[in-house]
Amino acid sequence: KMESKSDFGVIGMGVMGKSLALNLADNGVNISIYNRYVEGKEEGVAAKVLEENPAYLTIQPFENISEFVASLSSPKSILLMIPAGKAVDLQIQELIPLLNEGDIIIDGGNSFYKDTIQRSELLKEKGILFVGTGVSGGEEGARRGPSIMPGGDKEGFSKIEGFLEKIAAKDFQGNPCVTYVGPGGSGHFVKMVHNSIEYGEMQAIAEVYSMMRNYLQLDPIKIASIFEKWMDSDLSSYLLEITIDILRKYENGEPLIDKILDQAAQKGTGGWSLNTALEYGVPYGVLGEAVMARNLSARKGLRMISSGLYDLERFPGIEDVDNFLDKLQAAYQATRIINHEVGFSLMLEVSEKNNWALNFSEIARIWTNGCIIRSKLMEELVEIFKESNHILLNYEAIIALKSYQGDLSYVVGQALQNGFAVPVLSNAINYLLGVTTANSPANLIQAQRDYFGAHTYRRNDKDADQAFHTNWKE
Ligand code: NAP
Repeated sequence: KMESKSDFGVIGMGVMGKSLALNLADNGVNISIYNRYVEGKEEGVAAKVLEENPAYLTIQPFENISEFVASLSSPKSILLMIPAGKAVDLQIQELIPLLNEGDIIIDGGNSFYKDTIQRSELLKEKGILFVGTGVSGGEEGARRGPSIMPGGDKEGFSKIEGFLEKIAAKDFQGNPCVTYVGPGGSGHFVKMVHNSIEYGEMQAIAEVYSMMRNYLQLDPIKIASIFEKWMDSDLSSYLLEITIDILRKYENGEPLIDKILDQAAQKGTGGWSLNTALEYGVPYGVLGEAVMARNLSARKGLRMISSGLYDLERFPGIEDVDNFLDKLQAAYQATRIINHEVGFSLMLEVSEKNNWALNFSEIARIWTNGCIIRSKLMEELVEIFKESNHILLNYEAIIALKSYQGDLSYVVGQALQNGFAVPVLSNAINYLLGVTTANSPANLIQAQRDYFGAHTYRRNDKDADQAFHTNWKE
């Protein structure tokens, strides 16, 4: 029989593509789905989605790309949910001859934003509208309502806006967690920084957990109950919430967490953010440390050998547990504010240099639900960014950080004194102390540079545009 045309197509029936497809179908969108056919490896992947979900009668599955494209009504809207990199280029090349002017390709994977800029330019020549879109929320988010960060062609966005609004999570006012982020690669850029903040937030929790577990010697059940109390404060977040579930998971009477190999994986976004921060000269230590912590964790062999060779002493806490927990809570509060300040300051710098005019209050708003870094703090940032683009300059942030600073210093001090690494927490206090220092020792750096390289320096008692050089050996 002649099938009626679908309004939307999804390519890639992996974890994310399948979930988004079912989400679209749940919201009454007629969709076609496609998964490539790999000779001898797998077949009928798209058809299997229907077998597993027999109630979805309107979904049309395809294994042939031409038939898939032909099944869509015009303008054709096609969402790619496939691995970033070469796969996206190959898929776009395959689609180009099958598409017409005014058709829309949406790349919903974690593509590097500079690749997105190049692809936009290539597709513009062909008259195809390209929308590079960040999608966050993992499998569950994609299925029930993700946070969606579309950027690129505005006309293309306006044609698919309705579909995205249907499937997106809703913020506390009931508005969809999707907004047109900006031109070019800005959608994927913003998703990249989202993930970088996610790295920082995860590592901060891991360090706080480590201090409770190793320094205070608390068991996972006890730690979960402390985190549960924190959930009632302004520390409430999705990542803390899932951590509680994780710590309560026991297998044969033992915490499952203890059986999990401590080598953290990564797919790129955290490192790309750090590279971008270096490219734009943005101080990014705290989120950079979260990437480095994963890199160090991956070197399990080296860690095992040195652990034996050095046999460093790690001292358990000999202090009032409740008192230390209060300080740890404050330290964690401060670190979270600084993680967000640093992530958003990268977005501010890149937005200004590229004339993207990113709206940080809107970005925070679409991150209040559906995405991995949703939290009470993010809800507060929606308001904070209405006043200033810098969290650090906000009056309430100043009051909060001033009150947490001593505790963050104390916790980091105790951690280092007693033999526990806390790279993100320590970087947070170093950032806070550094950014609030009016006269830094960079004057000595400038003098050294002038000494060995005649790089010249400027003076604070003379015209700041004037360059000075001293013959230091005279
Ligand atoms: P996944 O489960 O590994 O699925 C990848 C899909 O892409 C599969 O359907 C695969 O088909 C297809 N594919 C692989 N290589 C291809 C190629 N060369 N040409 C065409 N199709 C190809 O991945 P995923 O987790 O859904 O992630 C998809 C994208 O979303 C990635 O960019 C990822 O970074 C991003 N993302 C993931 C999450 C998450 O939580 N998982 C969250 C946000 C964003 P085969 O079965 O034929 O290999």
